Amino acid sequence: MTPRSLPVWTLALTLIVLAGCGPTSLDKAMSRLDHRPDWKHYSQLDLPRHPAEKFLGGWVIVLDPGHGGEAHKKGYKRGPTGVREAEMNWRVGRLLERLLTDAGAHVTLTRDGDDFVSLADRAEVANNLARPDGGVGADLFISLHHNASSRESANFSSVWYHGEADWSEPSLDVAKYIAHHLGTQLRTNVAHTSPLMSDQLMYAGGFGVLRRCKVPALLCESSFFSNRAEEQRLRDADYNLREAYAIYLGLCEYAYGGRPTQTLPKVEKIGDMLRISTALDDGLDKDWWGHDRDRTLSSTIRINLDGKQLATHYDPQCEVMVARVQADLVNLGGPSSHVLSIHHTNLFKHHNYPQRYRLVFADDPDSAVAITAMAPKRATPK
Ligand SMILES: [Zn+2]
Repeated sequence: MTPRSLPVWTLALTLIVLAGCGPTSLDKAMSRLDHRPDWKHYSQLDLPRHPAEKFLGGWVIVLDPGHGGEAHKKGYKRGPTGVREAEMNWRVGRLLERLLTDAGAHVTLTRDGDDFVSLADRAEVANNLARPDGGVGADLFISLHHNASSRESANFSSVWYHGEADWSEPSLDVAKYIAHHLGTQLRTNVAHTSPLMSDQLMYAGGFGVLRRCKVPALLCESSFFSNRAEEQRLRDADYNLREAYAIYLGLCEYAYGGRPTQTLPKVEKIGDMLRISTALDDGLDKDWWGHDRDRTLSSTIRINLDGKQLATHYDPQCEVMVARVQADLVNLGGPSSHVLSIHHTNLFKHHNYPQRYRLVFADDPDSAVAITAMAPKRATPK
């Protein structure tokens, strides 16, 4: 059949199809910006596996669905029509557990169903967890909550850290990714206030569960069940899945940028001096193109002893950091205990963990110095 013998309508249809297959013109793309939608809730679910979830493989994560076991308490942690916060927290926890387990992380929940678990016991799950690698303690503790306010219109996402920002650097690194994804996925009222908040804004001693955690910890108040429209969304497991997915995305992106760490510091006595050394690890993939370049920000490298900053030398070739301490700063002749803090960030500005070690010098000046990693500094009531 020749083109001449084709019916006219077939030719017209072909031209229309061909026109539709071409790339979008700049004018057309620009015109899409003439009528941009408001930032509002939407119902479409799109849950692709994030390729960076591989960086969560082997992570040990404790999920803490807030509350539970208090259904008998009239009106306790319930929305305007009676939806219980404990139940939405639980559903988000289970869905997030599945997402993270599929990514290769080791996940533990602090409660089973609608059990009551004290705040102290929840933190202890993370602090005392037996790790598959033989160590003790989780990499991360995430408490899952939803917020309430006497102002019914309130509905924003917030992620809470313990105490001073300076004490919670590794937790804040994670929190910022999660907070942004919660706002985007749930379309809560972002930019209304900071999405990152210290738990001391609420209580002088911070949140009991965060205060007791000895591992990096954060608490999500993902949205407000006291908001009538949000309460109805929160009773829907698909909406809970959207929230779990937001937290999963945040964790994937955080893990993508790596968590720097360092070898256990070595402390050597040389005459009346102490030589402190440690090898830094930027926490990033060792096979990436450019891995041989230094990926640690030198301006962030610091060693403090009992709060006093030490002169530090960092060799980017071997990534070893060395500090020397004058004898008059440390009592070498008798038993004494000191806090050594080590600080550095990689090019994603992710902070190292752990950041603090306790050094204990024995009576005998020739005996070895005992060095143990310390929990993040705890908040003092204000
Ligand atoms: Zn709560």
